[in-house]
Amino acid sequence: MPESPEDRQSELESLWYEIAQAIAAGRTQGLVCPECLSEGLEVEEQQGRTTVRCPNCKRFVEVGIATA
Ligand SMILES: [Zn+2]
Repeated sequence: MPESPEDRQSELESLWYEIAQAIAAGRTQGLVCPECLSEGLEVEEQQGRTTVRCPNCKRFVEVGIATA
C-alpha cells in the first residue's frame, strides 16, 4: 500500500504526540526519538513554547502543550 505524504505526516504527528504527552506529564529525561529511536531528546521551553530536538537525527519539533 503506497503511503501518501499526508499519511506520513499524520503518522509523524501521532508519534510525536506521545512525546508531547510525556513532556506534559513532566517527563523530560530518557525520551526516545520516535524517528531514529535514539535516546536523549533535548526538551527546551522558552516563551511559553516547548520544543524537542533530537541530537542524533537533528529532528526539531515544536510540541503544543496546553498548560492551563
Ligand atoms: Zn532522532
